[in-house]
Amino acid sequence: MQTVRNRKTGKRGTKKLEVVQTVAALRARVHEWRMKGESVGLIPTMGALHDGHLALVKAALQNCDHAVATIFVNPTQFAPSEDFEAYPRDEADDIAKLDGLSTDLAFIPDVDEMYADGFSTSVSVSGLTDGLCGASRPHFFGGVATVVTKLLLQALPDRAYFGEKDYQQLQVVRRMARDLDIPVSIVGVPTVRETDGLAMSSRNWYLSPDERAVAPTFYKVLRDIAEEVGAGARCKSAIETGQATLADAGFSPIDYVAVCDADNLKPLDRVDRPARVLAAAHLGRTRLIDNVAAG
Ligand code: AMP
Repeated sequence: MQTVRNRKTGKRGTKKLEVVQTVAALRARVHEWRMKGESVGLIPTMGALHDGHLALVKAALQNCDHAVATIFVNPTQFAPSEDFEAYPRDEADDIAKLDGLSTDLAFIPDVDEMYADGFSTSVSVSGLTDGLCGASRPHFFGGVATVVTKLLLQALPDRAYFGEKDYQQLQVVRRMARDLDIPVSIVGVPTVRETDGLAMSSRNWYLSPDERAVAPTFYKVLRDIAEEVGAGARCKSAIETGQATLADAGFSPIDYVAVCDADNLKPLDRVDRPARVLAAAHLGRTRLIDNVAAG
């Protein structure tokens, strides 16, 4: 718990994190704030919080009167072969971290609260989800779009915060909120990295010490590609060089390395507009994803 300054009155006070498990309790609290004309920022997460997640919370606290973090490991975005059961979970630590930042509310529903018996609706965003992670994890964006839609409708925040670390997800959520007229502004927050460049991720917990030593190569390769294509090289040749470097370093399989239009995520031949270099690859049992701006 921290001493915080009220954004409107300028008065100092302490805020203690409130933890709720039900949609009804979440709605009741947010309704109370809205009736007072106070704004709300939502930060959807799957927990195992690190400084990347906390950057989203800080951004929300800077721009909104109240920050609501959600912690829900969403089963529908994992394929049966993936790491749903093994996904790192540490609720007590998450709560302590959120409380330490003076987050107002943590919404931590269980699976039954989110998916009632007979749940049979899904949200799908076409086009943007065809390539990249959509190709290697075909179930993923349907699960994400559905759960994020639910969280936005449950909380009805003014703003919702997502990391650029999951750039395709950020673009999908932006498109979905726009297409469905969900009255929220989607805010992208820059990727938070370890000092050696590795993007922070809950899945980094899976890396062995040897793999952890190799992992920063991933970011370095993305930066090298960005530099080359930014200087006018053909994307294809820069990508091939990057893939070879990753393979030599022990990344296998490599799901994709791509240079895409930063807005619609279509692959580019040369960088002649704002672009993004994106990649996903496995290092041992850990799947790393990352991206950087190019051009
Ligand atoms: P997750 O818990 O992995 O589903 O992530 C929850 C939110 O935190 C998503 O919007 C992510 O993009 C964001 N996020 C995860 N890692 C980072 C990071 N290193 N920097 C910034 N945002 C991040």
